[in-house]
Parts: sequence; C-alpha cells; structure tokens
Amino acid sequence: MARRSSRSAAQPKSTTVETQVDVTVSKTKKQVNGTETTAVTKSTTTEVKTGISKRKSAHAEPTTKREPEEPAEAAASDDEDQDDSQRSAKKRKITKTTKNRPAEDDAAMTLAPRTAISSLKHAMYIGAHVSAAGGVHNAVTNALKIGGNAFALFLKSQRKWASPPLADDARTQFHALSKQHNYDAGRHVLPHGSYLVNLAQADREKADQAYNSFLDDLQRCAALGIKLYNFHPGSTGAGGDMAGACSRIAANLNRAHRATAGSNVVTLLENMCGSGNVVGGRFEDLRDIIAQVEDKSRVGVCLDTCHAFAAGYDLRSPEAWAATMKEFDSVIGLGYLRALHINDSKAPFASHRDLHANIGTGFLGLRAFHNLVNDPRLAGLPMVLETPIEEKGPDGKTVNNPQIWADEIKLLESLIEMDPESDEFREKEKELQARGAAERKRVQEQVDRKAAKDAKKAAKGKTKRRKKGDEDSCDSCNESE
Ligand SMILES: [Zn+2]
Repeated sequence: MARRSSRSAAQPKSTTVETQVDVTVSKTKKQVNGTETTAVTKSTTTEVKTGISKRKSAHAEPTTKREPEEPAEAAASDDEDQDDSQRSAKKRKITKTTKNRPAEDDAAMTLAPRTAISSLKHAMYIGAHVSAAGGVHNAVTNALKIGGNAFALFLKSQRKWASPPLADDARTQFHALSKQHNYDAGRHVLPHGSYLVNLAQADREKADQAYNSFLDDLQRCAALGIKLYNFHPGSTGAGGDMAGACSRIAANLNRAHRATAGSNVVTLLENMCGSGNVVGGRFEDLRDIIAQVEDKSRVGVCLDTCHAFAAGYDLRSPEAWAATMKEFDSVIGLGYLRALHINDSKAPFASHRDLHANIGTGFLGLRAFHNLVNDPRLAGLPMVLETPIEEKGPDGKTVNNPQIWADEIKLLESLIEMDPESDEFREKEKELQARGAAERKRVQEQVDRKAAKDAKKAAKGKTKRRKKGDEDSCDSCNESE
C-alpha cells in the first residue's frame, strides 16, 4: 500500500490542517448560533415534504468552498447553553416549552422511521453524530427523528475548556428518553471527545487541563450510563516524537481509568488521516498506545472510514476491505474494534487530508460501504455518520438538513445483502458519484498542486544540500508522500 514513508516531512502540514479546522467550524458556528433550535425545527418541518428534491439540487451544484472536517454537530454545538448559568438555562427551557410543539407532535417531525434491527440480515446499528444543543437529552430525540439506531453527541461544548456541570434535569431526561425509545446507552451511544483535548500534550500545565476535561467527560458518561467514549488520540507537538506521545496518551488513559474505576467506560482511540504530527494515522500508533494501557478492557478503537482511506488504508474493493481488516486484526486485534465512523472522503486515497463526504459521493464510493455493512464481524457495533448536512436555505443562509442523514441511514441499511452487480446498486452508485464529481475534482486538483509544490521543494532542498555538502540528517530529506 502506498503510504507516506515517514512523518517528519509532513510536520509543517499539521499546522495548516489544524488552522483549517478551527476556521471552518467557527464560521459555521456563527451562522448557526442563537438560531440553532429554530433553524432545525423549521427545516425539519419543511423537509418532510421537500427534503429529498431540495437535497439533490444542492448536491448537484456545489456552490460552497467549505470543507467540513468534523461532524456537522460542530455547527450545532451547544456552546451558547454551556456558557450560561443553569438558572438561565432553566428559564430558557420554560420559554422553549411554551414556544415549542407539544411532545405528541414529535412523531410528525420524524424524517424517517427507525429500521427494526431484527429485519436486517446483519445487525448494523447505523446513526449519526447529532446535535445535543439545549442538553444531552435532545440528542436522543434528534437521533430518533432521523431513524438512527445509534448516535454520537458531544457531552459538553467541544471547543471550550470551561463547561457547567451536567444538569440533573438533562441527565434524568436522557435516561428516560433512552429507555422510552429503546436506545441502549451502554452499547449504541458514542460520545465524541473535545477537539481541544490532547492527551499527548507534553507541557505540564496544558496536559493537566486536557486530562481534567477528559476525565470530566468520562464522569459524564458514567452518569448517563454510557460505556463507549471516542476521542482523537492527540498530537505529538513540535519534534514529532511519536513514541513519547503514545506513552503520554497511555499514561493519561491509565490515570483516567483508575479515577473512574467503578464505571467501566471504554475509551476508544480514533484512527486519524495521518497528517503532520497527529497521532493515530497508522494502526501501529494505536497498537503502541494500547500496549501501554494497563486495563485492556477499558480501551478500544473507533475506525473512521474517511480517515483510514486518507491515511492509506484502502476499503474500496472486497479484496481491499479484507486486506485492511486483516491488517487491523494483525496489528491491533479486531477485538479492540468497538465502533465506526462512516464517512466518504472528498480527498483521494492516501492524501492525508481529512475531508468528510456524503456516502457514495467521495473517493471511497458506495462499494466501500457495501463491504462495511456486509461484514458480519461489525454487527452490533455503533456506526456513526459524520457526513456534511449543511445546505443553503431559501434566504441564502446555511442550515443543517438532517434529512440527509435520514436518507444515508436508509441507504446504508439497504446495502445489506444487496448484490453489488445488480442494476439497483449500479444506478445508485452512478448517481452518487455524479453528485460528488465536482467536489472530488476540486479537491484532487488541490492535492495535485500540493504534491507538485512539495516535489519542487524537495528537489530544491536536495540541490541545496548537495552544495552544502550533505550536512543534513536524513530525517529532514527523505520523506515525501
Ligand atoms: Zn470520525
């Protein structure tokens, strides 16, 4: 498999990527903050009738240059609520109750009914990373609306260090709604960790801050009856010492596991796209962390399909899928695979770019997901979409359209036992590839330009070094992707 030969050369890239993520999300946040609840309510009401046709037109002509790298939930964050005191949160809740529809109207808001798992040939629990704006309990109803049999959420603001404690009322409602709607919080709810937390942080003070936020999330899981918790392993920082970073992550996990000894929450390392100093691009990184975790029952992996593909693990053909799963098994062990993030990729194979695409529209394509939902080894695991759902509303403003997730869940479920050579499959495959063609072309050109630039730089560097008499260490000269 063509993968990058080393990490060091890619180091400057990491800064670029991280900055990109921040800019992207804060931009979206601005668009959504304050009006989030209303926006979702409005769009869901109208989308029941018009969602699908509207969606098609939006995808046929991608007008925006935005590249969502993180779950769309980032946009629908509950930042606002997290900032306020509990008193004002309560006040807002009262306002909401009077303003919003009565509970029985919820059924009318449903964008797709949930599929009975027993009706599927393989027990695939597919859902999405939904909004928890207004409180964690709202994630349950948001998952229900899109017909999700699993869901992810943020337990607190994912971009702020300070958050108010989990409100008793939100906790009670989370338990009640999960029970009422038959979501097994212990198995099919997969909270996503904060983007700020870097458990590989070497600076003592910053490391403490990261650890405390991480521990707080695990305690929230325990209070909510959640047993799986997914997070990005971290970043090595300057110098790119991967071994040291893996050890620091494992040490923090050990400490957090001890501090939450009674809860048995399993901490899931997410594989990453392998850019710059990010830990987790290679299965070996995850293996090295797990090896140093004392309580192996408290650690596992969440496999993100987009990240894996961008990192150089192919999933497209049945043979490629089997080979990647085999590699996962031999390097990490399939027993550690506890959850999946199901995303297509706007960026080509082994490009080390983290750009989530809608299912079937990216470089992975529908066949990769056919491989996934038909792999019986994955039955029972939570599978979470982190695909983009932003659309331009009639007023030109960006709104989230959860109908897209509702449709993607049904699409993925329909692939179970479908013949990939059937007309039905081929037509769907063709339609979705056409929908993503412009976006794939755009990103491919970016990647090509970057590769050309890097090659030029590398050539220049070589000449310079030769002139200088080859004094550089090979660490800084041998890597290109
Ligand atoms: Zn992910």
